[in-house]
Amino acid sequence: MDARRPLMAGNWKMFKTHTEAVATASELLHLVSGVTDRDIMLAPTYSALVPVGEALQNSNISLGAQNLFWESDGAFTGEIAPGMLKAAGCEYVIIGHSERRQYFGETDGTVNKRIRAAIEADLRPVLCIGETETQRDADETFSVLDKQIQNGLQNFALADLNHLVVAYEPVWAIGTGKTASTDQAQEAHQHIRSLLEKAFGQDLAHRTRILYGGSVKPDNVDELMQMPDLDGALVGGASLKADSFGRIVQFQT
Ligand code: PEP
Repeated sequence: MDARRPLMAGNWKMFKTHTEAVATASELLHLVSGVTDRDIMLAPTYSALVPVGEALQNSNISLGAQNLFWESDGAFTGEIAPGMLKAAGCEYVIIGHSERRQYFGETDGTVNKRIRAAIEADLRPVLCIGETETQRDADETFSVLDKQIQNGLQNFALADLNHLVVAYEPVWAIGTGKTASTDQAQEAHQHIRSLLEKAFGQDLAHRTRILYGGSVKPDNVDELMQMPDLDGALVGGASLKADSFGRIVQFQT
């Protein structure tokens, strides 16, 4: 079976105007133009999607969004539809990020609906899961991951999940400067892969990319990416500067 191609994804959260986003994306393009053995994705804020998408056209960097709504259109003030993201040039969409769960009432049930909507619009969902510090301290990490995977991916057929990406993001490591150790990350990733195998079979489990997210930086990425079940990274803070994210993208194992 083919090795999984790493995916290095930048989540720009609510940072950068569209002008600033285009400038950083253009700078990054120069830095990573020679990279051919891994996938790269940038997820700017909604107002920057179209201009950043234009800047990335015909390049080796794909465009992603940070969320979507599950209806195709309608009276849903403040939401954005899957087809709109597709038309803006998105290939990926981040779903269920811990900040959405923590501040905006996202649940495994709404995550499930968003994933279905993404797949129907031919967008690649990046499903974010991970435990809080309290849950880890209470030895609940695996049970939290079990629930997030089972409920988030409930009622999907195997064929729906061809382009699924999972991001393991321990909440205690996001934006905190604390990173999971290589062993903690590998253990969680291996567990997630075993859950995928139980639910959808060995082939899908083997093919699905599982990204690590949580204070990934130029100085820890090489070590993390050595682990066999880490297939890339979802990077917040350290993706905001082109030189830092450029280095992360070009990790060496
Ligand atoms: C994230 O937002 O998904 C993330 C992992 O953030 P940071 O890299 O800043 O911890």
